[in-house]
Amino acid sequence: YKTIVEGTTKVSVPVPPPDATFPPSAAPVFYNPEMELNRDINVAATAAFVKRLLSRKELLREEVHYVDAFSASGIRGLRIAGEVGIHATMNDWSPEALELIKENIKINELEEKTLATRKSANVLLHKQKYHIVDLDPFGTPAPFLDAASASVRSMLSVTATDTAPLCGAHLKAGIRKYAAVPLNTEYHSEMGLRVLLGACARELAKHEKGMLPLLSHVTRHYVRAYLEILPGTKQTDRTLKSMGFSIHCPKCGFRGPVYGLAVHIEKECPVCGASTQIAGPLWLGPFREQAFCDEVISELEVHPLNTRDKAKKIITFCRDELDIPMFYDQHVICKELGASATGIEILIEALKANGFEASRTHFSGTSFRTDAPITEIKEIIRALSE
Ligand code: SAM
Repeated sequence: YKTIVEGTTKVSVPVPPPDATFPPSAAPVFYNPEMELNRDINVAATAAFVKRLLSRKELLREEVHYVDAFSASGIRGLRIAGEVGIHATMNDWSPEALELIKENIKINELEEKTLATRKSANVLLHKQKYHIVDLDPFGTPAPFLDAASASVRSMLSVTATDTAPLCGAHLKAGIRKYAAVPLNTEYHSEMGLRVLLGACARELAKHEKGMLPLLSHVTRHYVRAYLEILPGTKQTDRTLKSMGFSIHCPKCGFRGPVYGLAVHIEKECPVCGASTQIAGPLWLGPFREQAFCDEVISELEVHPLNTRDKAKKIITFCRDELDIPMFYDQHVICKELGASATGIEILIEALKANGFEASRTHFSGTSFRTDAPITEIKEIIRALSE
């Protein structure tokens, strides 16, 4: 074991065998240093959300209850208790994890603000309600979304690391886990995010809870989302209006949303007439709230975090993206046209100069969003290339 520090929290974690293919899973208790950025953003996003909760004057800080349902070393929950100051329950069904969580509570002197439990996550979440439920499991959160939806009162935070099923690379696994058909296109990362958000919206709806995505990001090989819970049938029905399908033309690159869960979908591409492909059901609404992004950025400034600059960059890109589903990739279009790529900012400016809206995205350096039709995008790219 060795002691590491993230934020202002000290945590004892096992040292994995040096020859392991994925060291975090080879250790007796899981700890992945690569997820520090995810946890740093979690501290800032949870701090921002708790400020909103407290401003409603219904709760005191210490009355806000957070659960880290898959806690391993306890690091996520300990950081929330210590760095945000709310009550955190750290749960893991592994006996080794429970012992380590208890030891880490002592190291940080957080006995009064924390609870360590050893239950199956679904059992705990079906039994107990929490203001904030955080799911950070191995791979997919799908088997836990029902219990989390039953438990959560104010915010659901969820990580999914099963990007291959979510993004359409493992099509059948994606359909099994999320009851949605993904498409493995150049915007597969956004596809994964919208499949996950769609699954969350439908699970919450069973419990008459609507949702407002406050922040979501796809970073490296995971998807992470922070969803405010909007209780009641009216809000739930309104939430489901953001569900729908996405049409994609593999020939010309046309893409477009179709809102609703029982809808007619054109089989022919409206631009080139080729057969379209369909993905869904998906979340088609905004995947972040701009004001919340600003609040998270303010929190990133005041908390001592090792990944602050990276985190700020991601959240700023998220904030500034247009709310138009399914980004384009400049390189994919250039390849099709045999055109050479300019800097992405030059393309954005050219789209704007032609009277369209355009923005970059946080998904990749070559991606952009625009309300320009695909034919116009291609003309602009061709003209820039010349
Ligand atoms: N959240 C942790 C972090 O940020 O370091 C990492 C959690 S790790 C990916 C997943 C943990 O979930 C493991 O420690 C495992 O023992 C635990 N686990 C797996 N299935 C579980 C279940 N059904 N109920 C409770 N714990 C479970």
